[in-house]
Amino acid sequence: MIPEKHPRRVSLEVRHKLVDGFKKGLVAQAGLIAQGRGEAFDYLVGEKTSVIARKAEEAAVALMLLAENPVISVNGNAAALCPGEIARLASLVKAKVEVNLFYRSVEREKKIANVLKKAGVKKVYGVASKPKKIAGLQSNRRMIDEALWNSDVVLVPLEDGDRTEALVKMGKKVIAIDLNPMSRTSRKATVTIVDNIVRAMPEMVKHAGKLKKADEKKLRVIVNKFNNKKNLKNAEKLIRKSL
Ligand code: ATP
Ligand code: MG
Repeated sequence: MIPEKHPRRVSLEVRHKLVDGFKKGLVAQAGLIAQGRGEAFDYLVGEKTSVIARKAEEAAVALMLLAENPVISVNGNAAALCPGEIARLASLVKAKVEVNLFYRSVEREKKIANVLKKAGVKKVYGVASKPKKIAGLQSNRRMIDEALWNSDVVLVPLEDGDRTEALVKMGKKVIAIDLNPMSRTSRKATVTIVDNIVRAMPEMVKHAGKLKKADEKKLRVIVNKFNNKKNLKNAEKLIRKSL
């Protein structure tokens, strides 16, 4: 039990969720370390959703609502931390959900798919079948399924820099959730959300609820007035100020 007043309580609870996810075979060993890198940056942004992050979250949702074929690409950490929000967001913006793992095994894909289905995702793509190949990528993640191949907008919470770049090169608009505004992922994405996934996903669900009936014009205004470079600079400034 973590004491109620512990200053890092929420952060420690999230950590426990990941350890649990690891024990259940959802999260990879390296996923635990990646979370550590995220925690350090979360400390620096004050462990709360900034105005800067909120802007990116709204723009990301507008982009997904405008998309022809939006996809949410899920890894072990995302599935362990917020399966319910993935399901809700997917349903609100009509996105397909696919499993995509760096340390790939069909067994882990199936476990993640089961967690997502239990949380309310009707169909999970990318389990045991990855017929398409992203050019110029070395890792396992170059193999992708049809859903991702055909997408125009992809939400990749907790993505890797190489793959973000490759997806952008394929002509896709990439939305990344990454607490480090200086990572390659952050710099290569179309919309970068510098926020913890455990806060960003519920925020995006809220925005989606509000915006899902908005007309195309309003959504375009939101997307057009968002400037990712500027937003990232501001996120970096926020961190520097906190030091
Ligand atoms: P890149 O591959 O983009 O250059 P990296 O190699 O530094 O980045 P990785 O180890 O590939 O980073 O992945 C970890 C990334 O995920 C870190 O940038 C970290 O900030 C981010 N991250 C980890 N956990 C979370 C989380 N819960 N919410 C948001 N971001 C997170
Ligand atoms: Mg990386």
